[in-house]
Parts: sequence; structure tokens; C-alpha cells
Amino acid sequence: MATNRLFSEIPPTAGLPPRWRDLLPSGDGDLARRAADFLGVEHVQVECSGTASLVVALTAMHRLSGRRAVVVPAYTCPLVALAVAYCGLELRLCDLAPGSIDFDAAALARLCDRDTLAIVPTHLGGRVADVATAKAVAANVGAFVIEDAAQALGARVDGRSVGLDGDAGFFSLAVGKGLTTFEGGLLVAREAALRDAFARVSREIVPFRFGWELKRSLQLAGYHVVYRPSLLGLAYGMPLRRALRAGDPIAAVGDGFSPDIPLHTLGHWRQSVGARAFARLPDFLAACTAQAQQRKARFASIAGVDIIDDPIGANGAWPFFLLRMRDEQTRDAALRELWGAGVGVSRLFIHALPDYAYLQAVVGEHDVPNARAFAATTLTLSNSPWLDDATFDAIASTIERIAA
Ligand SMILES: *Cc1c(COP(=O)(O)O)cnc(C)c1O
Repeated sequence: MATNRLFSEIPPTAGLPPRWRDLLPSGDGDLARRAADFLGVEHVQVECSGTASLVVALTAMHRLSGRRAVVVPAYTCPLVALAVAYCGLELRLCDLAPGSIDFDAAALARLCDRDTLAIVPTHLGGRVADVATAKAVAANVGAFVIEDAAQALGARVDGRSVGLDGDAGFFSLAVGKGLTTFEGGLLVAREAALRDAFARVSREIVPFRFGWELKRSLQLAGYHVVYRPSLLGLAYGMPLRRALRAGDPIAAVGDGFSPDIPLHTLGHWRQSVGARAFARLPDFLAACTAQAQQRKARFASIAGVDIIDDPIGANGAWPFFLLRMRDEQTRDAALRELWGAGVGVSRLFIHALPDYAYLQAVVGEHDVPNARAFAATTLTLSNSPWLDDATFDAIASTIERIAA
């Protein structure tokens, strides 16, 4: 697709469009309350990121059980591996089932034992993951289940939010995950005892840090300036295309993370910005879902392309479509035409966790063929409302031609 989209760049995920009036100073911004109402729970703990939420949860759980092993999908956000390492715990990678975001159930059972602290099923890309299998395996060995719902705010099963089935769950309010405080996290726990433990750990290990709050506040204000098609080409598209020209896909998707995980409170002003944004979230998610339902059908008709969808009865969130192609060559051919074209095509995480050079010391060597195949054959297409029907059709036709 030859397009010059410098002044009409589509973001890779459906971010809730920010509003200037969200930024007004005021005292009415109770983010924890708004989030709890949205999720349908009594209490939500606000943290400075999804990663920080995981660090708090793992730290509290380790203190309760003394166990050390944390089982995560071999294909997930590198920050999850870094969070486990930050806590001084042992990372165990579980391969995925073929062509799926879910754990390979047999591999999961083999990996878990009396030292397993927690299993982390992950609702990747807004899809509703299999938590029941993780719960069954965890119950066998006495481990906790933490649902990673970083990409799944708004995903529901039988009308109930994801993240509430396991012992704990967390959501991310980072840029690109939907509703954002530039960085932020929401942590929930099913039982009061665990909630109290999370709150105690947070008070102990998460300080107020003026420098970080100032930096994040300026970044959030900047986000309100540039998050529009006319300016995203400068803020997102140009650095993306530079990274692609340099042959650096990790930089292109922003997958290169530092092991120094910032831990600090999320300040009042950013919380009130997030709280105001929550008022618009249900309508926005409904519009995204309606658009996804309609556009999903287009991919169902293309041979050689699989759209990752939800189990029957589940209603995930749709920040983007996660598409799996026949093989890496075909996927890469599609990316050559579409990634960098400004139309909202991108990739999720570039590698399975063992294949990031910078994670070597943390992750080590593992034989995880399905996770590797998933990384090599998938691409993402934005479900932003700014992606119009004509452009969507052109993208789908391009993918169809390449798949054929
Ligand atoms: C983004 C992400 C995280 C980390 O959340 P942050 O808010 O960016 O720290 C964890 N898990 C998954 C699957 C993610 O996509």
C-alpha cells in the first residue's frame, strides 16, 4: 500500500481519545473508585504501572508462601520476565498451545510443583485466556493464579470482567493499552486477606517520587497534544519508520525495556485525568467491539489467515486484531507492505522470551516451539475508530493477496 500518511497516522491500538477537559485540575478524580465500579469489584489498588502491580502482587505472595517459582507464558511482554527477576524469584516459561495464546496444558502441569508461587495466564491482545486450566493446576500444587489482563481492560466473560477469576489480576494504563495515565496499573484481588497484603506491601515498597511524577505528568500532557491522526505521524510514525529502516524491530514496537523497574505512587492529578477518562470508556469499548465484530468476518473468509478470537461465551476487548499467517515468510511479506505504511499494522512482542538478547541472563535457554512460531507468524491490525472502512478494506485485500 503506497500511502503518504504523515498527517493521518493510525495508532497501532485503539486508544481512548483523550480530551482536554480531562486535564483540568480538580478534586473529583477518584481513579480507584471509577475503576472499581467499571470492573464490578469493591476495591482496586492503583499502582504506577502494570509491571509495578505484578511486582507488588508477587512480593506479597512470596511473603505469604515462601515459594519462589513463577510460571509465565513463553510469549508475553518482556516486562513480566523483568518483574519476576526484580523480585528475586525464579522464572519458569511455559510454552503455548499451538496457534493459541493459552498455555500448553500438559506443559503447564509438568512445570508446576511445591515451589510454584504463581501461575500467570495472560489475556493477550484483549482476548479472553483460559484461566480455568491454570486454576486447576494451581489448586493441585497450592499455587496462586495471577491474571495478566494488562491488555484486556473491558474484556468480559458472562458479563464479568476478566482478572477476577484468579487470586489476583492486574490491568495496565500504559500508553497503547486503551485508557491511559501515560503509565499506570490497576491491581485487584479476590479475597480481602490478599488485598490487605497487597496494600501493606505497596505502602512499604512504593514511595512517592517527585521526579517520576513530574516526568509522567509532562508525558501525559504531551500525549494529549499528539494523540490525533494529524500529529501521530510525527510522534509515532516517524520514529517507527526510522526503526524499520534501521532493521530494529524491537525499537519499532518498543519492546526494549530496562531492568530498573520504576516503583512510585501514581499522583493525584494523573489519577483524576484517568478517572475522568473512565466516564467515556464503556461507550468507547462498545464502539470498538461493534467495529471488531463487523470487521472480523472479513478475515474469517481469507484462507491462510487466522484471527485469534475468544472462546464461546466470552467477550474480549478489541484494541487490535491479532492475525496469524501460514508461515513467517508470508507474515513478513505482509509486514513489508503494511508495517510503516501508517495504517495501524504492527506486531505484538517481537520474540518469544528466550529470544531477546537483552533478557538472556534473566530467561536462559528454553525449548518453546509454539511460542516461537506464534511470534514468527503473527501481526496486529489496529481496531482504532480512526481506521476508516476504505483503508481497512485495502489492508484486508493486501493481506488476502499475500496469503493466496
Ligand atoms: C504491557 C504489559 C504488561 C506491563 O504493563 P505496563 O503497564 O506497561 O507496566 C504486562 N503484561 C502484558 C501482557 C503487557 O502487554
